[in-house]
Amino acid sequence: MDRESAGYPGVPYVFDIRRGSTNDGPGIRSVAFFKGCGLDCRWCHNPEGKVPLPQPAFFAGRCEGCGACAEVCPSTGGCVACGRCAEVCPSGARKIYGRKYTAEELAGILAADAPFYVAAGGGATFSGGECMLYPSYLADTARLLKERGVNVAADTAGYVPYQNFEAVLPYVDLFLYDIKCLDPVLHRRGTGADNALILENLEKLMRTGKDIVIRTPEIPGFNEGAELERVRAYCAARGLPHEVLPYHTFGEDKKAALKAAGRPRR
Ligand code: SF4
Ligand code: SF4
Repeated sequence: MDRESAGYPGVPYVFDIRRGSTNDGPGIRSVAFFKGCGLDCRWCHNPEGKVPLPQPAFFAGRCEGCGACAEVCPSTGGCVACGRCAEVCPSGARKIYGRKYTAEELAGILAADAPFYVAAGGGATFSGGECMLYPSYLADTARLLKERGVNVAADTAGYVPYQNFEAVLPYVDLFLYDIKCLDPVLHRRGTGADNALILENLEKLMRTGKDIVIRTPEIPGFNEGAELERVRAYCAARGLPHEVLPYHTFGEDKKAALKAAGRPRR
């Protein structure tokens, strides 16, 4: 799979930046979430991260019916994802997921809280979507963070060409690496792709000596029980730390809001 031919541009759209996270690597961290992913996990809790382009969302339950969005909308033939409605909406019912930052801008935002995080062993994390679809941009941003003494982690599902890992290796301290299951047929059923490339990349990455933590979301009806135990045994045999992430349904309201806003006209 090639990043450019898969339609992924060199600079990602970022759909969220979170500060003070305790779920995205060690310590307290600032996290940037990039849009675009080569997998299509049926349980995805960041549905706004799947498509590599800006997307409107409409949270109907928050709408106060003020009409401001309709007044500013420049389009009569379907949404063009310009984001004007989100700018004027007083209740947060209208949102646009996805905006671009230069590497300098993003590094500045992620490093802003670094002085507080360093004492707690934290730093900055790139996540998504799949942050590893944008190796040049990630390397540039991570390099700027390293220059400021910030610890850098990349949260990845590993479904990218291995060259993408090689490009960022000098600037990433830790990989949070998802292994959803080991059975390739089950993996394809749950994510749309088998896991051969993911496991192959992991074996290569281990040989670099980089810190790696394997993470597995526990999904009811998918990898509970024996399948999860197989992943545990796989990690134990390789001396890899393994974390199990609890299942939650936080993505459902965002999925409904994306559907309610409809697909934008490109
Ligand atoms: S994002 Fe879409 S709905 Fe909102 S103002 Fe722009 S065109 Fe209209
Ligand atoms: S601007 Fe926001 S609150 Fe007002 S009608 Fe539009 S979606 Fe509803």
